[in-house]
Amino acid sequence: MSEAIFQTPGPLANGWRLDHSYSRLPDLLHKPWRLSPVQSPSLVLFNRPLALSLGLDADALDTADSAAVFAGNTLPPGALPLAQAYAGHQFGGFTNLGDGRALLLGEHITPAGQRLDIQLKGSGATPFSRGGDGRAALGPMLREHIISEAMHALGIPTTRSLAVAATGEPVYRRETLQGAVLTRVAASHIRIGTFEFLSAHEDKQALAALVNYTLERHFPDRIGAESPALELLRCAMERQASLVARWLNVGFVHGVMNTDNAALSGETIDYGPCAFIDRYAPDTTFSSIDRGRRYAYANQPPIAQWNIARLAEALFPLLHPEEARGLELANGVIEGFQDEFKRHWLSGMRSKLGLFNEEQGDETLSKDLLNALEESGADFTNAFQSLSSEAALQSSPFGDGALATWHADWSARRSRQPQTHAECLQLMRKHNPRVIPRNHMVEAALASASAGDLAPTHRLLAALSDPYNAEAPREIAYLEPAPSGSAPYKTFCGT
Ligand code: AMP
Ligand code: MG
Repeated sequence: MSEAIFQTPGPLANGWRLDHSYSRLPDLLHKPWRLSPVQSPSLVLFNRPLALSLGLDADALDTADSAAVFAGNTLPPGALPLAQAYAGHQFGGFTNLGDGRALLLGEHITPAGQRLDIQLKGSGATPFSRGGDGRAALGPMLREHIISEAMHALGIPTTRSLAVAATGEPVYRRETLQGAVLTRVAASHIRIGTFEFLSAHEDKQALAALVNYTLERHFPDRIGAESPALELLRCAMERQASLVARWLNVGFVHGVMNTDNAALSGETIDYGPCAFIDRYAPDTTFSSIDRGRRYAYANQPPIAQWNIARLAEALFPLLHPEEARGLELANGVIEGFQDEFKRHWLSGMRSKLGLFNEEQGDETLSKDLLNALEESGADFTNAFQSLSSEAALQSSPFGDGALATWHADWSARRSRQPQTHAECLQLMRKHNPRVIPRNHMVEAALASASAGDLAPTHRLLAALSDPYNAEAPREIAYLEPAPSGSAPYKTFCGT
């Protein structure tokens, strides 16, 4: 199958090399669709480093002319736009969805041979729009650009943003906003909801084809298992467990972990209501519509596991010829999530604490710190920063109280490993970001951008591009939580 389905075209103008393996999958999964040209496209942001790594001609594309491509007025050479069909559990309830405001232009083949989806988001209505306008507003698209690029710089698997283009047309939400299109680059857009969609259609053949396709595209070293569906379930579980562990280690709250926003590739996808925590509070929820705190910071691991259970249900007919055995196997994978998550999370915490070897008590030591941080109301990111200095390795930077007690335990723990302070600090600095996208700074940049001033956005992007570099000079504003007394930060899904 692989040879026919995955092809490698030669490069066309500006370095574009688009293939269309997804369109060779069963028809149920995609609808060929068209661009919906907009009035006056203009390029707002262009990601030159990403363009270069994709083998695109950054000079040729970073021009006013190419706004027509990034706003969806003209197609890049070799593009064959389609809208993808999928379903998903949104806040626990099953719904049929699909690309209601996105178009897949094709899969770009990079010089290194990587296959990456190029998708326009906000490019107009499709057969899956369900009454929506198919459009996106400038603020949320800039927000996706900023936060996904920050995640990438933090070393967390994520979709990327190649460009944001303004449409010159209004979009009507609670207020009238400027329209924009984001060009998203992703390992793929195959979601748990894509499998749920085929399962709802009871199309076992298509389901099997998508299983094989996903294994070939994302897990080529896992092909050949007795049950490809079971192997894929395992791969998805492992990637989600590792991803969510990384989120927790940097204080990220995704905010809308519906199964349609869970990518099989293991990339973070769909930056709607996401945000980073300031002070450590496990129940932190930013999304204004998440009243039940379903997607709160600390609820992300059990939700990812719940999502894996939905994938298991969708794949169930393919797991094993005997139902009872299939159920047993599925449960084994689902239950394995907890250990897998904990392994990644604890390994992340050890690195954040400068610990090289493993000891039984490390989980307790980590949780004791988090409890003390919660109690003291300390800023999560900056607490780890204040631990990451020669002085802090010697004596507690926290005065007395629970944090000081914890510091004594930590010092004792460190004394039982052979590494020097310098080695310890090096490890900590690699895992404790100095800069994260502080909510108030992101909001300030977006407010300026919507008034036509992109300078704060560029400054913020520059600060976020090198988050672990302790030596880089920074504006103090990027390093501080929102001023005390600020209202709790709220995000809105109205993207
Ligand atoms: P999201 O919240 O971005 O994950 O989107 C959930 C679903 O709603 C997806 O199927 C989107 O394509 C669809 N959707 C979101 N916004 C719009 C819009 N403005 N017009 C049409 N469909 C939309
Ligand atoms: Mg989505």
